[in-house]
Amino acid sequence: MFHRLRNDFRLSIITMLGVCAILGITPFAIMRFVQGNTVAGLVDLGILAGIVGSLAHAWVTGRTERSGMVLALIICTGAVLAGAVMGEAGLFWLFPCLVTTFFLVSGRVATALNLISILVLMSIETAFSSNVQMWTFAATAATVSACAYVFAHRNQDQRERLEHLATIDPLTGVKNRRSMDEELDRAAANAERTGLPYALVMLDIDHFKQINDVYGHGVGDEVLRDLVALIEHNTRKSDQLFRYGGEEFVLLLPGVDGASLQTVMNNLQQVLRKHLKYAGGPVTSSYGVALLGHGESVESWLGRADEALYQAKETGRDRIIFADNNAQLAAEPA
Ligand code: GH3
Ligand code: MG
Ligand code: MG
Repeated sequence: MFHRLRNDFRLSIITMLGVCAILGITPFAIMRFVQGNTVAGLVDLGILAGIVGSLAHAWVTGRTERSGMVLALIICTGAVLAGAVMGEAGLFWLFPCLVTTFFLVSGRVATALNLISILVLMSIETAFSSNVQMWTFAATAATVSACAYVFAHRNQDQRERLEHLATIDPLTGVKNRRSMDEELDRAAANAERTGLPYALVMLDIDHFKQINDVYGHGVGDEVLRDLVALIEHNTRKSDQLFRYGGEEFVLLLPGVDGASLQTVMNNLQQVLRKHLKYAGGPVTSSYGVALLGHGESVESWLGRADEALYQAKETGRDRIIFADNNAQLAAEPA
């Protein structure tokens, strides 16, 4: 739970707002019913139901866009109603809302929501005691919105940059080992839930050190980038490639079972054999392949692929070794 709150910024904002709103509105709702003001009590209850519903939706589905939108609409409507009914005292509620919208929905939607809220309030005569007050409100509300926009925009930009730095390998542009750990956990959980088969390929370039030693690191880097481009061009969109370290890569193949795995791997090997070259000649690779077993842990899955790769190296390189017996039996000799 804390892991999700730490990693999903919008979910944390939705949760914080939702909890504050529930704690803040519930006593008022109870008080209204006690005082016999049923209509106001029902309005409070409606708002509470909307907040609880969107909070639950965000946690259960993980899709926070819709919940963020619903919450932004609820808080803006609530603030406008407060200003319309209570006048001056109620107007202040709009200011925190003008800031929060930028963390719940996209910048463009938040700007539109804020502008509409300000204009609607300005059109309600009972909300202001004078024109000066109305225009002062409009100017301060617009300024707060503009500042919140800049702050939220920069915040989002920096979060995306940090995310990129933490998850992407700068040389090849593919995801790094840290992202791989998360994706493999996700794949194993999905396999458990849906029964979708997953295959994992561990690929290591053969004699890569020689390329570096003889032609220099620049040429070695170029080979790594070419390898990634070739794999990405010759695999499906749903397949994911990770740089495991050095000249070792992991390819995650969802929806591939024992029968199709051999074809997929033979095709990939042929493409790389044919097109991966450097000044000194062709570059070959060795492959260890493992299907995710029923109820198998990610560590064991990776371990079996690694063991298969080790065997591929031990038995002469430039070959595919399948860790699973049925796939192994069906495999063509390298
Ligand atoms: P094997 O066939 O057994 O896999 O032999 P190898 O030479 O490929 O393997 P080894 O582990 O001995 O060498 C890997 C080399 O990869 C050593 C290291 O300098 C090089 N390397 C690791 N990361 C990079 C990188 O980012 N760029 C370049 N150019 N070389 C790298
Ligand atoms: Mg190698
Ligand atoms: Mg290696």
